[in-house]
Amino acid sequence: MFIEINYQINTYTRSSKNGVVHSYTRKLGIITFRCDNCSSLFTRARGKMDPKRLSNNYFHVCNNCDSKKFAQKKKIERRSIWDKNSSSLEDISKL
Ligand SMILES: [Zn+2]
Repeated sequence: MFIEINYQINTYTRSSKNGVVHSYTRKLGIITFRCDNCSSLFTRARGKMDPKRLSNNYFHVCNNCDSKKFAQKKKIERRSIWDKNSSSLEDISKL
């Protein structure tokens, strides 16, 4: 689950070919997620992520959990919808 994005401004220094020291800044985006498998919070750098995945339309799994096993579990859940009785009183939006 996508929770928030924070920006951290890092300052670095570099020396030019004439020996003059210049300082420059870089903005680093740090995204906080809640793992959809174990519900723990984890962070990830924004530059390492596809911008399309920064929403709750996707599942997010932390490094401690196995994302492949999580995907298999979700597939079984989705497949079980087709075995449900059509006359059940379950809300269709909660499937
Ligand atoms: Zn996890």
